[in-house]
Amino acid sequence: MKIICIGRNYAAHAKELDNPIPKAPLLFMKPSTALLKDNRPLYYPDFSKDIHYEVELVLKISKQGKHIAPKFAHKYYQQISVGLDFTARDIQAKCKEKGHPWEIAKAWDNSAAIGNFIDVEKCKAADQSISFSLNKNGQQVQIGNTKNMLFAFDQLIAHISSFFTLQVGDLIYTGTPKGVGPIVIGDLLEAYIGEQKLLECLIK
Ligand code: ZN
Repeated sequence: MKIICIGRNYAAHAKELDNPIPKAPLLFMKPSTALLKDNRPLYYPDFSKDIHYEVELVLKISKQGKHIAPKFAHKYYQQISVGLDFTARDIQAKCKEKGHPWEIAKAWDNSAAIGNFIDVEKCKAADQSISFSLNKNGQQVQIGNTKNMLFAFDQLIAHISSFFTLQVGDLIYTGTPKGVGPIVIGDLLEAYIGEQKLLECLIK
């Protein structure tokens, strides 16, 4: 399986990091070894002094496809969760400055925490939107809603599948809203869709 992540999919987050608002979805990938499952703790890696959390809605691909049209994209996923795209912001800043690839800042072991999956249809509000949030040590630090995405799920799937075959089990991290910030050892992160807690991660 592969993990495809979207950068800068919420205007307010692009702004907080002084990034331009993209005209097309910004993609990067993480290998399967980046997955951190079953609410396991994250051991703070020794190569960075500035790891940030980024809470994101994550889609699980349920059907293989390539060149998927936006109007058919909803047929390719049924389950959703929240994930944490852990980012070594200090390394990322150096990569960006030099125009280098991002993998060492973004795709390291356990950098993609993933929660329990639930049915997409069951977490939609009356207006079809999905809200999600992150608590750090019991305080809400990020709140997001699909209404504020620059590129909606179906546009993302169409765009991604124009380059990469999507396979069953692939995960799409759909971007983080504003409020990203650093973690320290001892922090407890808890991520929710609506009121439902789907992910917990202790920093060790
Ligand atoms: Zn992210």
